[in-house]
Amino acid sequence: KGHVRFDDVAFAYDGDRPILKGISFDIPAGRTVAVVGPSGAGKSTISRLIFRFYDIQEGAVLIDGQDVRDVTQESLRAAIGMVPQDTVLFNDTIAYNIRYGRPDASEEEVRRAAELAQIADFIDGLPAGYDTMVGERGLKLSGGEKQRVAIARTILKAPPILILDEATSALDTHTEQEIQAALDMVSRGRTTLVIAHRLSTVIAADEIIVLKDGRIAERGTHHALIAAR
Ligand code: ADP
Ligand code: ADP
Repeated sequence: KGHVRFDDVAFAYDGDRPILKGISFDIPAGRTVAVVGPSGAGKSTISRLIFRFYDIQEGAVLIDGQDVRDVTQESLRAAIGMVPQDTVLFNDTIAYNIRYGRPDASEEEVRRAAELAQIADFIDGLPAGYDTMVGERGLKLSGGEKQRVAIARTILKAPPILILDEATSALDTHTEQEIQAALDMVSRGRTTLVIAHRLSTVIAADEIIVLKDGRIAERGTHHALIAAR
């Protein structure tokens, strides 16, 4: 479960300027596809279309054969987890932030997710940086730590479909490697769409789609794409 298909999708935010044209690809259930390309190529737009934040003009986006136009926003949100580029945390404890996607989760489950994301030490703390959060439990979280909160949330939610939108792009090399390892763990066995700037960060994807100006310019495994250059 969790097969994602783009079938000849064309999309424009406004009528005059097409953003995506003739986009077709499959992410078989449990597999990983990476979309790579320069800034402005349309990568994030693809992830928004899976959530059906916008209606497409041509083609279809399908999940397990069902057009996302026929799926409720609630089911889409339940089926899809996203680790965004920049995680904005709620004005509450880290544990609350981890539990956000699954309010029914037990404390033990929250703790286990936090341990896997390596933030178990401070789940009772509050993220610092908001006016209301200058209490003694206030924590100043680095970009990497905030990403780990998003990862812990995703581990707990365990959605069949995962979108990683340049989830490590804002991090230094050392943190990037650690977070990447955590992300690899979360995405194992789940349908995963990875959005990235560089080919070198998506070596393990089953297929890489290189997007240029809203079209698929190249596609293949990392090995095949490198060999063709
Ligand atoms: P990428 O993720 O590859 O950097 P995006 O999908 O964010 O690219 O953007 C693709 C194009 O769509 C860009 O030209 C961008 O300016 C435009 N765009 C993105 N979001 C919107 C929006 N909400 N309204 C209008 N244009 C947008
Ligand atoms: P949940 O349904 O899990 O409680 P939300 O409804 O807030 O959480 O969002 C579901 C998923 O959609 C989350 O993984 C979240 O990161 C993602 N999401 C929500 N809003 C946006 C948005 N505006 N842009 C990108 N992703 C979003």
